[in-house]
Amino acid sequence: MTDIKSKQKPEAEKKMPYTAVKSIQRNNPTSTLSKEAENSHFTISMTTPIQPHEFDPQFKKEIIKKHGGENLKHCFQCGTCTSDCPIARFSDSYRPRTLIRMIQLGLKNRVLSSETLWLCAACFTCTDRCPQDVEVASVIRILRNMAVEKGFVPKIFKELGSNILETGIAYRIPELRLKRREQSGLPPLPKGNPQAISKLAKATSFSKLLKQGERTE
Ligand code: SF4
Ligand code: SF4
Repeated sequence: MTDIKSKQKPEAEKKMPYTAVKSIQRNNPTSTLSKEAENSHFTISMTTPIQPHEFDPQFKKEIIKKHGGENLKHCFQCGTCTSDCPIARFSDSYRPRTLIRMIQLGLKNRVLSSETLWLCAACFTCTDRCPQDVEVASVIRILRNMAVEKGFVPKIFKELGSNILETGIAYRIPELRLKRREQSGLPPLPKGNPQAISKLAKATSFSKLLKQGERTE
């Protein structure tokens, strides 16, 4: 499958490793990299050399114990999950196969602090196609839950979470747009129910997790 994103890149960038391209993009005001990624504190962890102290042999065992992680060790790195993943098709860095391999190797901090972990669209294509019955999408869910517990939450998700808690709606609609709707004769938008959501958030510890995520700012 042709990579549409790589088609749009300058030739010089195509030959560079991902880390070098990212460094250039940070210093380039016309960069296509999102502001969120530029401001991110998360490590770009897939291409930097691995140090011996990074291996944690317990990491894969932690995941195998959780629901959906049981078949992790059956992965033989065929790459089917990556080749069929709709996100990998348009991303330079997101590779579900790589994530699975990093877990097998025990690279816990790299995996949990990786911003790429949050690109998964949870479409379950990888899980459906894996010849070894690895539930890749479920493994990613487990990883995200572990990442949140450690305080690794991308800023945009924290903002969306805070919006839901405060207004009952993930996206805060700007006042100007609301006024324009009114001027155009459109009916008012339905209101969220933050009180009910707040109760749910307390019961599920969502508010607490959101606060833990503030450590990454
Ligand atoms: S499709 Fe399954 S076996 Fe193949 S690399 Fe992905 S997780 Fe591993
Ligand atoms: S669930 Fe995530 S990793 Fe799997 S194919 Fe969909 S986007 Fe890719």
